[in-house]
Amino acid sequence: MNAPDKLHRLAPYAPPHQLLHTAHVPGHAAYQALVAESQEDYAGYWARLARVFVQWKKPFTRTLNSSNAPFYRWFEDGTLNVSWNCLDRQVNEGLGDKTAIVFESDGGTVTRISYSQLLAMTCRMANAMKALGVRKGDRVVIYMSMSIEGVAAMQACARIGAIHSVVFGGFSAHALRDRIADTGAVLVITADEQVRGGKTLPLKALVDEALAQDGCGSVRNVMVYRRTGGAIAWNAHDRWMHEATSEQPAVCEPEWVGAEHPLFLLYTSGSTGKPKGVQHSSGGYLVQVAATMKWTFDMHPEDVFWCTADIGWITGHSYIAYGPLAIGATQVVFEGVPTFPDAGRFWKMIERHKVTVFYTAPTAIRSLIKAAETHPEVHPDRYDLRSLRILGSVGEPINPAAWEWYHEYVGGGRCPIVDTWWQTETGAQMITPLPGVTTLVPGSCTLPFPGITAAIVDETGEDVPNGQSGLLVIKKPWPSMIRTIWGDDARYMSSYYPPELRGYYLAGDGAARDKDTGNFTIGGRIDDVLNVSGHRMGTMEIESALVACTELVAEAAVVGRPDETSGEAICAFVVLKGPRPSGEAAEKLAVQLRNWVGKEIGPIAKPKDIRFADNLPKTRSGKIMRRLLRSVAKGEAITQDVSTLENPAILAQLSEAH
Ligand code: ATP
Ligand code: MG
Repeated sequence: MNAPDKLHRLAPYAPPHQLLHTAHVPGHAAYQALVAESQEDYAGYWARLARVFVQWKKPFTRTLNSSNAPFYRWFEDGTLNVSWNCLDRQVNEGLGDKTAIVFESDGGTVTRISYSQLLAMTCRMANAMKALGVRKGDRVVIYMSMSIEGVAAMQACARIGAIHSVVFGGFSAHALRDRIADTGAVLVITADEQVRGGKTLPLKALVDEALAQDGCGSVRNVMVYRRTGGAIAWNAHDRWMHEATSEQPAVCEPEWVGAEHPLFLLYTSGSTGKPKGVQHSSGGYLVQVAATMKWTFDMHPEDVFWCTADIGWITGHSYIAYGPLAIGATQVVFEGVPTFPDAGRFWKMIERHKVTVFYTAPTAIRSLIKAAETHPEVHPDRYDLRSLRILGSVGEPINPAAWEWYHEYVGGGRCPIVDTWWQTETGAQMITPLPGVTTLVPGSCTLPFPGITAAIVDETGEDVPNGQSGLLVIKKPWPSMIRTIWGDDARYMSSYYPPELRGYYLAGDGAARDKDTGNFTIGGRIDDVLNVSGHRMGTMEIESALVACTELVAEAAVVGRPDETSGEAICAFVVLKGPRPSGEAAEKLAVQLRNWVGKEIGPIAKPKDIRFADNLPKTRSGKIMRRLLRSVAKGEAITQDVSTLENPAILAQLSEAH
């Protein structure tokens, strides 16, 4: 088992020479100047960005109000409208005919919509919602697959000051019911059906099922986008979107709201526990989303941006529904899945639409690596990807081996990868390389965005020296931060501002900074730190070592289980590139992998237990649910919240795989 020479060099990568001159943040000195500006006058720095990136109806005079911390208020006496900033503003600035969205359906049909057309569609939808009695502050649940109409529905809510809560179209009726009940929504916007991977799946039927359960009495209407025309049940409160909007005027005066007016609620993905309804603001959110959109992706007018997330996740909110539009960019929106009609779909679409900036998740990259190695015809080297200039990653730590592959085969060795660390709660990117600044190190999200006070501390809030791991915190409030958990201020405080941490925001991730560069590396969730015979190790480190065995391993998840002799024993769940072995073959492979990890990290990191599986339990956003694996490793029955689990059947296989 040899490490492939080409893909395992872990070398740092300097920014492309040209970007040192042309990027929005050009070179290290420019980055340092921004950091210094934010350190000298924190509020003044963000106030400046707020004026650059957002147009205010009534300018703010107070930047940050901390009098009721941790319930911070940003730009509180300013008023604005988010949809106006994303649409009218672009039309007014001469971008009316510019393509806002290039939509590609599951089957490959392409629809383009200009900024003027998207504005008209949004206004019609906003007027239709008003006609149904939706008012400022009302909650609207959006349960749709990827579509132009889905983005317009979010924008329409913003336009009238209604608070949207998008529920991912892959969630069950039960998960949908929970979210409708928690938000007290008055309207649900959905589609008759959705199309993914060549299959038609119900949406409206699941809304009907959810509304038949207790707790949904607040819902007065359901608006239905006709996607497939498939047969659906029809109730008195249902309205077709095309009928409700066609009679409406294509103009709608925006509702000017205070900066702190909630723009949306979004439930976290549930990797570690029961999802929380994260509440975001209008002004501060838009400021940081627009600033990161422009600087992190170094977006210029001619760029074609593609973020592969779903609008059901925070990434789809900040970098599909709002960010690209707020800076007047052209973006690709994709209805389908990366593996249909084959696992070359992403590469084919990049080629077809000449995508220049591409943003995806490690889980997608890992699955496409696995596919490319068994099916050479879907390998990215078979496609013309020369349009690409910048790549991005988000959602989980990216293993260095996957990073190297992404860099080499997708980015042709020339595109910087921005590995962006952030959360549903942070609203926008927090720690990330900047393409014209950062020397990249595979597996590290490098340094904070200018103005973000990320740090590593111990359990008492004391800074730990570089080179040591600890808790990732954000010391000062930031504009796009969570404002509270909807209806649960106490849970907001106890989850994110525990008293022993001196008023710092607790991210819930473990991390460390490099001794020399200060670069951040995320080691996984706090509860994923293992203690084996007194040695503390992040599960991520062992997973990366396993995945670095690129000939064999496609994906790996590591958890601890109590062990009498070592305190904790390492238990690894491994998905191989080939078929799942059993019996003697499995034993042999386990020994081989154990020795591999021993060589890569050290004997102490050798997993005691290695189990082979066809897949890992994941959230519907593709994140590994280690909390379930911890129960499996212990041999416990699973009694936890599994509403966000994508593939429930895998639990049975994992429990048996012993
Ligand atoms: P829950 O909070 O409900 O348990 P979740 O934390 O998975 O679910 P998200 O807000 O979608 O919900 O994910 C944020 C988390 O994703 C971060 O806290 C971090 O653990 C992980 N993450 C995101 N981006 C990166 C990255 N670039 N590198 C490492 N980890 C990342
Ligand atoms: Mg989280």
